[in-house]
Amino acid sequence: MPRLVDGFGRRFKYLRLSITEVCNFRCTYCLPDGYQKTASRPFLTVPEIGRLVEAFAGLGVGKVRLTGGEPSVRRDLGEIIRRVHDTPGVDKVAVTTNGWNLARQIDDWRAGGLTNLNVSVDSLDRTLFHQITGHDRLSAVMGGLDRALELGVPSVKINAVLLKDAAGPDQFARFADFVRDRPVAVRFIELMRTGDNADYFARQHVSGQLLRSWLESGGWTPGTRGQDDGPAVEYVHPDHLGRIGLIAPYGAGFCDGCNRLRVTARGRLRLCLFGDGGIDLRDLLVSDADREPLGDRIANALGGKAAGHRLADHITGDTRHLAQLGG
Ligand code: SAM
Ligand code: SF4
Repeated sequence: MPRLVDGFGRRFKYLRLSITEVCNFRCTYCLPDGYQKTASRPFLTVPEIGRLVEAFAGLGVGKVRLTGGEPSVRRDLGEIIRRVHDTPGVDKVAVTTNGWNLARQIDDWRAGGLTNLNVSVDSLDRTLFHQITGHDRLSAVMGGLDRALELGVPSVKINAVLLKDAAGPDQFARFADFVRDRPVAVRFIELMRTGDNADYFARQHVSGQLLRSWLESGGWTPGTRGQDDGPAVEYVHPDHLGRIGLIAPYGAGFCDGCNRLRVTARGRLRLCLFGDGGIDLRDLLVSDADREPLGDRIANALGGKAAGHRLADHITGDTRHLAQLGG
């Protein structure tokens, strides 16, 4: 029986679970100096993840996204996907990845029950992609994405951060061409300011209005929204199979439809991407016998969820970068 409702009447049926803070890319806005180890406590194990996901599913959560850091640096990601997929009540298993090794891994993930794949591709220009991520792997990433489409992964999306260096009509047009014949949603995300990237943010942040104007002048119109849609507004065009969306975290009302909770790779429940601290769940992940107190701790924590983030006041909580808790 679903119990995950906060003090503002928002219902939570979606868990974003970080399974590692480690990443092999150096995206300029996230980990420009690469991953630096900050704590010795290990990341959640497969049995701990299994218990955690069962508890959330028991509270009405039906969609689980595995993220990070880069989730695919974990050798047991395939096993984790299977474990989440086999949890009664979970009908959507999602992964967000930089796609560095997707072509080799996607068959296994799909066989394990993957339903939703988000691949981060900030530019379809090889040089820009290399500059932003530190890796000259655009064609390998796109090969993996096409393999996901061949395998019939039900939902395939691209995440692209809007950056001054990589935003503009030429870049938007490349993505539009890409989705002409592919059932893929490209979602541009406005760059978010985090604890570590204040200077970068000042140089590179671009308002989503740039994209909105480009879309509207090209005949794209906002598509119909599903009841459980997240904060993206997706545009459709009669000549294109795919969609182009915008996630504008600085826009008015962004948090009103918040439908997700987060758990860090070391087992802390985070009520907001830009909150502080979090509620430790790990002591209740050791044994199946703790299932009920675990569910109670999660449900009770929701009373502390704030109405919204305070990014407009430059308050980023203790989030230094998004690799810390999964974006
Ligand atoms: N490593 C995986 C990836 O890049 O897809 C998963 C983790 S990453 C933190 C999740 C998403 O957050 C990516 O799409 C990334 O581009 C986005 N992201 C990271 N830092 C961001 C920022 N400061 N503002 C907006 N999006 C950001
Ligand atoms: Fe790694 Fe993803 Fe951060 Fe890029 S955005 S550095 S791929 S965690």
